[in-house]
Amino acid sequence: MNMRAALGGPRLMLRKLREVMAQQISAQERLDKIAVLIASNMVAEVCSVYVLRADQTLELYATEGLKREAVHKTIMEASEGLVGLIATTAEALALSDAQAHPSFSYKPETGEELFHAFLGVPILRAGNTLGVLVVQNSAHRTYSDEEVEALQTTAMVIAEMLANGELETLASPGSTGMAVRRPLALRGSAVSDGVGLGYVVLHAPRVVVKNLVADDSDKEIARLEQAIDHMRTRVDSLVNQGEVAHAGEHRDVLETFRMFAYDRGWLRRLREAVAGGLTAEAAVEHVQSDARARLQRQNDPYLRDRLHDLDDLANRLLHQLTGEAFTLADGQLPENAILVARTMGPAALLDYERQRLRGLVLEEGGASSHVAVVAKALGIPCVGDVEGITGLVEPGDAIILDGNTGEVQVRPQPDIEASFGERARLRARRQEQYRALRDQAPVTKDGVAIELQMNAGLLVDMPNLAETGATGIGLFRTEILFMVAPSLPRATAQAELYGTVLDIANGRPVTFRTLDIGGDKVLPYLRMAKEENPALGWRAIRIGLDRPALLRTQIRALFKAAAGRDLKVMLPLVASASEFDAAKALIERERKLLADNDKLAPQSFRLGVMLEVPSLLFDLEAILARAAFISVGTNDLMQYLFAVDRDNTRVARRFDPLAPAMLKAMQRIADAANAAGVPATVCGEMAGRPLEALALLALGFRSLSMSPASIGPVKAMLLALDAADAAAFLKGRLAEASGKASLRVALQTYAEKAGIPL
Ligand code: PEP
Ligand code: MG
Repeated sequence: MNMRAALGGPRLMLRKLREVMAQQISAQERLDKIAVLIASNMVAEVCSVYVLRADQTLELYATEGLKREAVHKTIMEASEGLVGLIATTAEALALSDAQAHPSFSYKPETGEELFHAFLGVPILRAGNTLGVLVVQNSAHRTYSDEEVEALQTTAMVIAEMLANGELETLASPGSTGMAVRRPLALRGSAVSDGVGLGYVVLHAPRVVVKNLVADDSDKEIARLEQAIDHMRTRVDSLVNQGEVAHAGEHRDVLETFRMFAYDRGWLRRLREAVAGGLTAEAAVEHVQSDARARLQRQNDPYLRDRLHDLDDLANRLLHQLTGEAFTLADGQLPENAILVARTMGPAALLDYERQRLRGLVLEEGGASSHVAVVAKALGIPCVGDVEGITGLVEPGDAIILDGNTGEVQVRPQPDIEASFGERARLRARRQEQYRALRDQAPVTKDGVAIELQMNAGLLVDMPNLAETGATGIGLFRTEILFMVAPSLPRATAQAELYGTVLDIANGRPVTFRTLDIGGDKVLPYLRMAKEENPALGWRAIRIGLDRPALLRTQIRALFKAAAGRDLKVMLPLVASASEFDAAKALIERERKLLADNDKLAPQSFRLGVMLEVPSLLFDLEAILARAAFISVGTNDLMQYLFAVDRDNTRVARRFDPLAPAMLKAMQRIADAANAAGVPATVCGEMAGRPLEALALLALGFRSLSMSPASIGPVKAMLLALDAADAAAFLKGRLAEASGKASLRVALQTYAEKAGIPL
C-alpha cells in the first residue's frame, strides 16, 4: 500500500477536527462530535474519552458506541482495566482481543462486552497523563501503526481542550475535578526564607502550539527540516566553542545535545508526525510529550537527566518554529510572579524586575546552587529540588511557596491559600518587630555585647547592612561576584567592585574572603578538570597557592580599593599553618610591590583565616599565633568533621550541628581564641539560627556573621539571653553528653523555660 494514501485518513480527520474546534457549541457537544468523528474516520464502532480526575480515577466524558447513559457515570480507579493500564503506563495499547487481556475489567453499564478489538492511547500534555482515548471494534482486528499514530495525534487536540479548562464544567457531581487542574502539594528543599503567593511564570516558557493541523504537509516538512538544520548549526557551534561556551552550558551537556540533534529515531518520529498531518511545531510537541512520558517513568537517573536535554532541544526547535522569544522580554512580568525554572543561572535572576517577583521555585538546584545564593541576597523566597515542577504547572496557575519549610502548593484550595496567607502575614508582622530592634544594641540580658555581622557576596546585598543594623560584613564571599560575571573580572573591574562595597559599608568593617572556587563553585569561563571528589579537591586557597596569578590579582585589587581605608582579608579552606604562611608571604610580596610603586596603601591591613578544616583544630596555637583573626566556617567544618557532603541532600542533614562532637570542636576553638586574644567570628549557617546561635554564645563566641534575614531573629534571642547562665547550662550538659546524638531538645527546653524567643 502506498504510504501517502494510507495517511490520507488521519490528515482528513485532523482537518475535520479543526472544523469542530471552530464551531460555537458547548464543550460537551464538541467532545461528543469529536468522538463521532474519530469513530467514523477509524471505522470503529466505539470511540470513548476518559478523563483522569484529581483523585486518580478515570471518568467517561464522552462516547460514541457505548451506552450514552454511562457518560459521567462510569468512573474507575486508574489501576483498573485496560484504560487504567494506559493511564498509568502512558503508553498506547492495541489488542485484537481485549477480553483475553489479564487487565480487562468489565463495566456492565457500558455494554462493552460486545467488542473485541481495542486501541487506546494516553492523552498527554508535557508528558503528563490527562486522560485516555479509546476506539473499539466488535471484530477481532489488528490496528496498524498508522492508526495508533493517528489516534495519538487526535489525543493532542483533546489534551489542549483539557488543559485550557474548556471541559472543567462537565465533570460528574461530586468529582474532585480534573487531574490536569488538580491542586498539588509538593515538597522541595528550603532555600531562601519567606512565603510567596502568586502566579506561575515559567522562566523558559513552553511554547503553546496553537496551530495543530497543517494545510500543506510538504511545506511543513520543509519548515521542520530548516528548523532542525538551524538548531544543529547552533548546537555544533556551541560544542566547538568548548569550555568557554555559554554560562552553564558545559561540554558534556552539549555533547548530549548534539547526540539528540542527530538522533535518527527522534528525527524520524518528527517527520512521521508531520507526514500524519500535523504542523511542524505540533509534531515537535507531540513527539516530545511522548518521549517525556516514557522517560519520566524511568528509574535510571542518567536517562531521566537526558529528558532535560531533550526538553531543551525540543524547546529550541519550538521557539525556532514559532518565532517566540526564548525568555520573557523585559516588562512582561506580571504582578505577583512566582518564577518556576528547571535551572537558572545566577545572572538570569537579576534580569527580572525584583518588585514583581514573589518567589522562585527550582526543579534542580538546592540551597547551595548559585542562583539560590542570589535569591537569598535579593530576599526572594525560594524552594529548590522540586521534582518535575516545570511539567506540572501551566503559566498563570496559582502557586504558593514557603522557603522556610520547602513546601510548594500548586493550584491551592481556598483553605490552604488562607492558611499560607496567614503565615505570610505573621511573618510580615514578625519582620516588622525585627525592624523595630534594628537600632537596639545587641547586648545580652547580663550585659555582654555581641557583634552581629552580615554575610554578603553581591552589591545587591549591601543595602541590607543599613536595613538590618548589622555592625559590618563578617564574610564577603568574593567568588559570587565572579560567578555572576560573564568573564573573569580583570583587576581594575575587581578594584572598582570592592571599592563600591567599601563605599556602601561607609566605615563599617568588611571582611573580604579571597576566592573560594572549586568544589561545587565553578566559574563557567575558567577551565577546571573534573574531579572525583571535588569537596576534597583542588579548591579555595589550594588554587590560590598553585596558581598565584589569580590570588595576586585579587590582592592587588583589594589593596587598591582600600587605599586610605581599613582592609580585612581572610583565606578560605586553610588546612595547615604552613599554608597560611605561604599565602601570607605571597600577599606581603604584593603589598611591597605596591608600596615600591608609590601606590596609596590601606590605612590598616589585617589577614585572617577561615577555620573550616578539622586539621587546624589540632594545631590551633600555631594558627592563632599567625592570624590576626579567625572566622569559623561551620558549613565546611560540619562537612569535614562528620564526612557528609553538604550538597548531597541525602546526607547533608544527617548530623546535627548541636551534636556534642560539633559543640566540643567549637568549644575548643572559642577557648583557644579567647586565651590567645585573637578575635573569633562564626560565619557559617549555624550562626544565623537562633538556637544554634544561643549555643555559640554559651560556648564563648562574641561575634556572629549571618545572612541578613537572620539578624532580627538572632538579636531577639540574645536580648533575652543571660549569657553566663546559658554558658553554665551548656557546659554542664556537654560534660554529661557523651554518646548523645544532639543537645537540641535540651537547649530548646532551656530557651523555653527562660522565655527566650527562637
Ligand atoms: C562555611 O564553610 O561555613 C562558610 C561560611 O563558607 P562557604 O559556605 O562559603 O563555604
Ligand atoms: Mg566554607
